Amino acid sequence: MVGKTDVGVIVRRGDAAKGQYALDAAVKLLSFYNEYFETPYPLPKLDLVAGPGNSQFFSAMENWGAIFYFDYALLIDPKLSTETDRQNVFTVVAHEMAHQWFGDLVTMDWWDNLWLNEGFASWMENKATDHFHPEWNVWLSTQAGQQGAMRTDSRAGTHPIVTPIRDVFAASSAFDAITYQKGQAVIRMLEAYTGEAAFRAGVRNYIKAHAYGNTVSDDLWTEIDKVSTKKITAIAHDFTLQSGVPLIRATAGPGGVVLNQDRFGADLGQRTPRTWRAPVTVTSLDGRTWQGVVAAGAPKTADVAAPAVVNAGQTSYFRTAYSTDLWARLAPRYAQLPPADQLGLLYDSRALGEVGIVPMSDFLALAKNAPADGDPIVLNTLSDQLSAIDWLYDRRPNQAAFRAFARGRLGPVAQRLGWDPKPGEADNDAVTRRAILENLGALGDPAVLAEARRRFERWLTDPDSLTGTGRRTVLSIVAANADAATWDTLHRKARESKDITDRARLYGYLGSALDPALADRALALALSGEPSATEVPLLLGAVSNPFPDKAFDFALANRARLQPFLEPSSQTSYFARLAQSSRDPAMIDKLTRFAASVPASSRSELDKSVAAVRYRVEVIANRLPEMDRWLAAN
Ligand SMILES: [Zn+2]
Repeated sequence: MVGKTDVGVIVRRGDAAKGQYALDAAVKLLSFYNEYFETPYPLPKLDLVAGPGNSQFFSAMENWGAIFYFDYALLIDPKLSTETDRQNVFTVVAHEMAHQWFGDLVTMDWWDNLWLNEGFASWMENKATDHFHPEWNVWLSTQAGQQGAMRTDSRAGTHPIVTPIRDVFAASSAFDAITYQKGQAVIRMLEAYTGEAAFRAGVRNYIKAHAYGNTVSDDLWTEIDKVSTKKITAIAHDFTLQSGVPLIRATAGPGGVVLNQDRFGADLGQRTPRTWRAPVTVTSLDGRTWQGVVAAGAPKTADVAAPAVVNAGQTSYFRTAYSTDLWARLAPRYAQLPPADQLGLLYDSRALGEVGIVPMSDFLALAKNAPADGDPIVLNTLSDQLSAIDWLYDRRPNQAAFRAFARGRLGPVAQRLGWDPKPGEADNDAVTRRAILENLGALGDPAVLAEARRRFERWLTDPDSLTGTGRRTVLSIVAANADAATWDTLHRKARESKDITDRARLYGYLGSALDPALADRALALALSGEPSATEVPLLLGAVSNPFPDKAFDFALANRARLQPFLEPSSQTSYFARLAQSSRDPAMIDKLTRFAASVPASSRSELDKSVAAVRYRVEVIANRLPEMDRWLAAN
């Protein structure tokens, strides 16, 4: 009981113990939300209902008082679940419960304001999780999702957060990174701008004024502006009614750091000048802070001395381009910056380098000098960034040189973390250990591959020798580097598995093999009738990670047989996702031809995939030679 509400978790017979973790989370979160929103949760009960399987579209649904979750998003099995699973369950429960107010008690008027539900719940899931688990540093890990949204938002195919929705296809397409991740980033920026107390007071009044009613975005801005000394409606309009990513250019001036607002566009079409009133915080390394709003055509001077970080704390939605001299003073101090700002420098320098605004060497030099004992989420991010660049090399001659560089960066982190959890270690060390080892496995690190193999062989004779995060790490490394015999063994394990969640993951591993012949076997297996209905699209999706072109071609060639396994909301987006990480220029034409076969209003995910492939092809052509020269010299 929380107040007058009976909180419960509904599971299949035998799974009760696996629901305890989510029940404990829900009880804590309900008290937190009752206090935050001030209007208490009005129903006599709140059930969290677990069901087997998975969807191509969602992991949970916020039905009022009876929230549905797939097992993997709600249940924790100490033998099988990873540390990432534990953190995910907490945040998904926090997300769906935030919807009991934002979405259910107060509902968007129409799908063009979908982001009012999803952006707000995505922001609140992090705010609530950070309250109960500050050690997870969710505001750092959530940056990865925001970066994905920024990448989409700087290319063709993007759209404003608030966008017209005329039919059911367009409504389905609106459930994307712009709605969720850009949405939450904008809310976070606005809360940082008004201050936490004023923002919360506005939210409380909004819930009171509109309970059991429907709203548009301006209803929320109006309530916040009534109570806040800093008004947000104009800023909110700039960031929600127009698409795109602002770029703040920082140069050294006589009075401090001069800030000019420009636009960050990855495509030519996304470079048309546009104005945002952007809240900017600049903090110098000697601890002085300047705050202001910067708009195009009206430069401002932050009266702090270089070296200084622009967008300190990374709470605003824009990228920063430092002049050469400012960067030269800031980059060597990277290790002294707070983790959030280290992430900001890593993400911005790579994104700006890829489109040629700054040299790629800015990012590579940061990577070279990043300390191996830094914050786990920062190291995790660095590892993912290096893997993303490795993907661009695609067996080109200089891939070996890049891999040697990347292994040189990640090897010392893996050495420090080891393979086994240390007593009393931080939760995030477990998350990062897995990410670093898996990425080293993908980079072909011989020591990591050998140790994973050794642990796998032991597991075959002693299944209890691997549990949780360690089991997941070993299986994914071995599966990615499987030979035919290992693949057959994993296949047998998938067939024999009695646990529905684990069985789906084991089938997923079969699709992750880097050997193209095994990828073909996984594709054939997907439509063989053996995997369950929800495992079929998941297995094809797994193949699309190492082999996007192969997976897309297969799915298209077998479209009629695949159709019954695709959900109505995913008939087009599923194909777009299979193709989105392709490095082959031919994919652009394939996607364009496919788009002609679907209703016009359902093409937006295809447009985004076309833009993503085109972007990647250009980065490969334009930036890899520059990186090769740097690698040779360094
Ligand atoms: Zn949601």
